[in-house]
Amino acid sequence: MCELCRTTHQRASIARRTLLQSAAGAVASLAIAPGVLAAPVKAPPKPQNVLSPDAALARLMKGNDRYVHGNSSRYDFKHEREALSAGQNPFAAILSCADSRIAPEFCFDTARGDVFVCRVAGNFTNDDILASLEYAVQVLNTPLIMVLGHEACGAVDATIKSIKDGTTLPGHLPALVAAITPAVKAAQGESGDLLTNAIRENVKLNVDKLKNTGPILTSFVGDKKIRVVGGVYKLKTGRVELVA
Ligand SMILES: [Zn+2]
Repeated sequence: MCELCRTTHQRASIARRTLLQSAAGAVASLAIAPGVLAAPVKAPPKPQNVLSPDAALARLMKGNDRYVHGNSSRYDFKHEREALSAGQNPFAAILSCADSRIAPEFCFDTARGDVFVCRVAGNFTNDDILASLEYAVQVLNTPLIMVLGHEACGAVDATIKSIKDGTTLPGHLPALVAAITPAVKAAQGESGDLLTNAIRENVKLNVDKLKNTGPILTSFVGDKKIRVVGGVYKLKTGRVELVA
């Protein structure tokens, strides 16, 4: 073998070895991937947030009661920061509408590190929201998920109008309409105010969807490690009424 061929051969060998090592590394990473989703072994930064699903719901509703009556707590955000810099263990995850009047942290009188909040106009589930809630449950050990709708929801109202008038909304708004349409259809056969009923149906449908979407949430619900509930926020009083 000439010098040039030998050098080329050696280079090819090194390149092949490097590739194989990289591939082995990638496989090893994949092999430990499930471990990444395992619960953290370190002590939770907020031990008071380690609760059963029922106790988490009771705490959430007590917080709402304080908020309704104007007795919200004062929070020491400054001293809290250091404890939370190492991690989080929120006791509830909230899927809320993006409406600026809701503010889940306020309406349940909670501090930072207490509630894991996902917000989208119309408080519906999609793959991104689902993945976020799976993370809260699987990794952060959150025992409760609440889908939180609210009175006079503009996203639900726009969906009703779009269906009624047969119009297509501009931009990306049709995506919201598509997601909320099943709730409006479910409410159309009910007596009473269509908007109020559709808001409630939207919460219920999304609670069902979260409970029945596997593999993570279905399994945790089946093992009674989490609860998935639904509420509607009343704009004038601030009261959250459980509907599912
Ligand atoms: Zn809304």
